[in-house]
Amino acid sequence: MEHELRAEYDDSPQTSDARVKIWHVVRQDALTAMCGRDLEPGSAERSIDDWGTGTLPICHSCGALYLRESP
Ligand SMILES: [Zn+2]
Repeated sequence: MEHELRAEYDDSPQTSDARVKIWHVVRQDALTAMCGRDLEPGSAERSIDDWGTGTLPICHSCGALYLRESP
C-alpha cells in the first residue's frame, strides 16, 4: 500500500497565504486521512519519505496508524 502526506490548512487552500496546519497520512490519491479527516482536493502533497524526519508537523493519529501498516 502506497502512502503519501497531505496538508491540512488553517484557512482555505484557495488563499495564497494559506498555512499548513498539519500533515496527514493518506493512502495514495485518497482525500481522507488515515485518522478519518477529510482533506481538500487541492491540498499539497508530499512524499511519505518526509514522515519521520522530524521537520514537518505530522498528525499523531495518522502516524500511529501508518506505523501499523508499514512493513
Ligand atoms: Zn491525521
